[in-house]
Amino acid sequence: MVNYKDLGLVNTREMFKRAVAGGYAIPAFNFNTMEQMQAIVMAAVETKSPVIMQVSKGARNYANATILRYMAEGAVAYAKELGCAHPEIVLHLDHGDSFELCKDCIDMGFSSVMIDGSHLPYEENVALAKKVVEYAHQFDVTVEAELGVLAGVEDEVSAAESHYTKPEEVIDFATRTGCDSLAISIGTSHGAHKFTPEQCTLVNGVLVPPPLAFDILHEIEKKLPGFPIVLHGSSSVPMDEVNTINQYGGKLEAAIGIPEEQLREASKSAVCKINIDSDSRLAMTAAIRKHLAEHPGDFDPRQYLKPARENMKKMYIHKIVNVLGSDGKLAQ
Ligand SMILES: [Zn+2]
Repeated sequence: MVNYKDLGLVNTREMFKRAVAGGYAIPAFNFNTMEQMQAIVMAAVETKSPVIMQVSKGARNYANATILRYMAEGAVAYAKELGCAHPEIVLHLDHGDSFELCKDCIDMGFSSVMIDGSHLPYEENVALAKKVVEYAHQFDVTVEAELGVLAGVEDEVSAAESHYTKPEEVIDFATRTGCDSLAISIGTSHGAHKFTPEQCTLVNGVLVPPPLAFDILHEIEKKLPGFPIVLHGSSSVPMDEVNTINQYGGKLEAAIGIPEEQLREASKSAVCKINIDSDSRLAMTAAIRKHLAEHPGDFDPRQYLKPARENMKKMYIHKIVNVLGSDGKLAQ
């Protein structure tokens, strides 16, 4: 059993409080490789931003839970080596699907966990989230729970259609579970294919997806003033990365994300954590495809992973500075 504080990590409580009050959002970037981890830390240090490094159940299966925990510990040490005296790094479990998985992560040094019972009947979701909160809070680990269902596919999480969060449920849910933050469904979606072209409107040759349900978000804010809200499935799926992938042999059809202006607007509200995973996958794949197409003789992974890391870092910095507004927001 190891406590996250011994690894130099922090939970989300203080950074969320500041983010809600300050009208910005903390980036939550998924990772499962060393290059992603390095790019996240470099971007956070350069922009002086708090950051949430999150791993899904699939990432744990891919990279090994023990290795990820040491990578997070390494991330803190690396941030300090890069000149950040007091980094604020959270190691978060994304979409925990059972009490046992959440407990296992807490016992291994995670500082924050998500328990996702959103697919369960309401009362079962409440009971499961409450059980995780009771365990987590003994160790000062923060808990994210979810109400409403996001459409899309990401790792082992998938749903055919979305169900918006019902604002009339949020007070009861937050009070009875004791959760520290709430993931809601207002029209974001998992994966790189968030919408079908039929759901979009064609504006100047570009497919624009339906807008996020800001009315629902504002209603939730009114019910739970100052309570930290989380948006999942918030990659914007940049067309230049998709085009690069397709130009160099890829075949990504109709990949559509959430427009960054909408995320920028959401960041100014009680939304204080925005999850971005697909954009990192796209940035990495685009750089690797381009490099290998232009240098067919290369076979040293460092030759193509270095530009991949650079491209992800550039994307992370862009999100922090231009979309979420968390740059310069370290406590000290
Ligand atoms: Zn998610």
